[in-house]
Amino acid sequence: MSPGTPRGRRRRRNAAATVRPRCPRLPFGAFAPIANGVNHGAGAARARRFYNGPVPATLNADLHCHSVVSDGTLTPEQLAERARGNGVQLWALTDHDEIGGQHRAAAAAAAQGMQYLTGTEISVTFAGTTVHIVGLGFDPDDAQLADGLAQTRGGRGQRAQEMAQQLALVGIRGAFEGALRYAGNPELISRTHFARFLVETGACRDTSEVFRRYLTEGKPGYVPHRWAALGDAVRWVTEAGGMAVIAHPARYKFSANEEFALFSEFRQHGGRGVEVVTGSHAPSEYGTYADMAREFGLAASRGSDFHSPDESHVDLGTLPPLPADLTPVWELLADRIRPAP
Ligand code: AMP
Ligand code: MN
Ligand code: MN
Ligand code: MN
Repeated sequence: MSPGTPRGRRRRRNAAATVRPRCPRLPFGAFAPIANGVNHGAGAARARRFYNGPVPATLNADLHCHSVVSDGTLTPEQLAERARGNGVQLWALTDHDEIGGQHRAAAAAAAQGMQYLTGTEISVTFAGTTVHIVGLGFDPDDAQLADGLAQTRGGRGQRAQEMAQQLALVGIRGAFEGALRYAGNPELISRTHFARFLVETGACRDTSEVFRRYLTEGKPGYVPHRWAALGDAVRWVTEAGGMAVIAHPARYKFSANEEFALFSEFRQHGGRGVEVVTGSHAPSEYGTYADMAREFGLAASRGSDFHSPDESHVDLGTLPPLPADLTPVWELLADRIRPAP
């Protein structure tokens, strides 16, 4: 591996104080701030501005979680109550490929006295791998975003039928109907719903065991799927007035070169943020992606990725704060935050 490759660069980053990134570190000044018209879509022009004052960097923000509108087990209202109970001040509901819960979530946040950013988590295929892109602060009534998400959801029914056929081959019958019973939104049947069904049947003790033994590449019930293109997902969000954020980057099984390509292309498409402190990372991974945020000039996000009181190891609002030198995404999205009443 030559020293100029991403892997060589990453070793130096961790090894020595004299780290010299190959590409210049881009200060935030290198980007026009979102409020100054970087977003050119009609949706962005229409997007309502809420607030223009300062937002404290130390806010308890939780900008990633799921409700029954995708693969969570709580309603938007129950999530809002739980978030508030845990001290969350700024919240976003980020259902997979769905924004159907956004108006309910915004109202529930207001009822709990929390600030709110609209959210979603878009399934993308990049370099043959599924990558998740969180969108924050967009106009929830933007037609292009709604169409893009509807297209992205579109293949899920067929995929689920094929997953059930694969499971039947190893003796697990009725998985499509079984998973559908767990899906609060029939358009959004996901592997999580199959996982709950496999726990119900006694095939596995918990959902973590399901994802070790089934539903993942090389295991029974896995069906490859083509999701949205990276550039499309970033564009739908930014043209709707919001910010695209790379979700839980440590979860992807990329080589260093592929990861470098993801971050570079994401930036070129207009992506602005990366999750640094997330319930889907081990604490030891926070530092790695704080470095990536610095190197690529990305703002940092924080979110539990909470799905269910019975399944999630990290509760809403309980993660450590972001490293103090990083720019939190909510600073750049200040005028997209719906204020607490
Ligand atoms: P899908 O979008 O249908 O491919 O389902 C992806 C969802 O499955 C993720 O959002 C997680 O909620 C869940 N999931 C994937 N891998 C795991 C895992 N190893 N452990 C627990 N849940 C997982
Ligand atoms: Mn999920
Ligand atoms: Mn995800
Ligand atoms: Mn998630």
